[in-house]
Amino acid sequence: MDPFSETKAAQDLDIEPFIDEIRNNARKKSFFLNAIRALLVFIKGFSINQEDIGSHRFAEEIDSLSERFVEEKDAEVIESVFEKYRKSIPHFIKRQKAYLRDREKELWDIIGLQRSAIASIDSENQDYHQKVYEQSEKIEAITQLDDIKNIKKRLFKEVETIRETLKEKQQQERERLDALAKQISLLNIELEKARTEGTLDDLTQAYNRKAFDNYIRKSVDQCTTKRSRFSLLMLDIDDFKRINDAYGHQIGDRVLVALVEKCKEFIRGEDFLARYGGEEFAIILPGASLKNALKKARRIRKAVAGTHYTAENQIKGQEGISITVSIGVASFEKNDSVSTLIDRADRALYEAKRTGKNRVVGA
Ligand code: GH3
Ligand code: MG
Ligand code: MG
Repeated sequence: MDPFSETKAAQDLDIEPFIDEIRNNARKKSFFLNAIRALLVFIKGFSINQEDIGSHRFAEEIDSLSERFVEEKDAEVIESVFEKYRKSIPHFIKRQKAYLRDREKELWDIIGLQRSAIASIDSENQDYHQKVYEQSEKIEAITQLDDIKNIKKRLFKEVETIRETLKEKQQQERERLDALAKQISLLNIELEKARTEGTLDDLTQAYNRKAFDNYIRKSVDQCTTKRSRFSLLMLDIDDFKRINDAYGHQIGDRVLVALVEKCKEFIRGEDFLARYGGEEFAIILPGASLKNALKKARRIRKAVAGTHYTAENQIKGQEGISITVSIGVASFEKNDSVSTLIDRADRALYEAKRTGKNRVVGA
């Protein structure tokens, strides 16, 4: 081979196009590198910032891939690095899509719930209120999604409104219930008062005639069906007309009140003291035999006779007003009716009057 001719060939070779191509390739490489990095930044920008789907790690991987493209000179290494990320990027996108789908479904559920919450705001259902509260917490949880910030704001506002409305409604209900409870307790007091007032004698506060009639009816019925007993005392003030004549009617009234007070000292809880009429009183002693009833009647008679009442218009030096009572006593007997029993007690009282007053007679 002619060495000269070789030199000649070399001299003939035009290297300019090669140099241009090399330059062009270098520019292309630089452009692709920048384009790849820009695309990676876009991918990162599209990802939502949500720890549940590993957004932070994904962002770090994208940054690291971007840096490797710049730093790594060895094409083989770059290829293998990219191969690794080629799988993880679509995985992340899949996870993100699923996450957004789930959140969207939750949003729809919440919107549906809000709609029914508003519709049933007038309902009295406490459980439902609770449910709305729980759901509102869920809304707050999903509002960490940055890309649905506006939805979050609106939902949050609406939930706040619902909460406030519910709170107000519950407060109103509480106040209404309190007012009702107060009203009920007042009515109960009134009712109890009316019930008692209806059975008491205005002047003496002993039971009235109507209450006596009911009570003795019940007592007779009870003793007719069950084997129990009771006794009846008929008590009448002796010469009460004279008290009225001497001291006036008002003092007479006060004597009646004082007599009732005195009798109450001798009767127990279940005993029943009633004003039978005028200055006549009846005492029912449940469970008492004739003997025990007579004993009690005597004690009452004695105590009344031994008491002296003072009055404003009383003449100085006088001992005070004193009264005596006559008492007729009868005990329930088999086959007794209300009227036969009262009749016996009345006859005993008449006998006490007839035989000198200030005494007790048993029938
Ligand atoms: P006796 O010993 O026979 O029972 O004589 P008495 O005077 O008590 O009986 P009488 O039936 O003759 O008179 C009863 C009197 O009781 C007549 C009446 O003015 C009086 N009286 C009845 N109810 C009341 C009352 O609510 N207040 C007063 N102050 N007096 C009354
Ligand atoms: Mg009398
Ligand atoms: Mg009388």
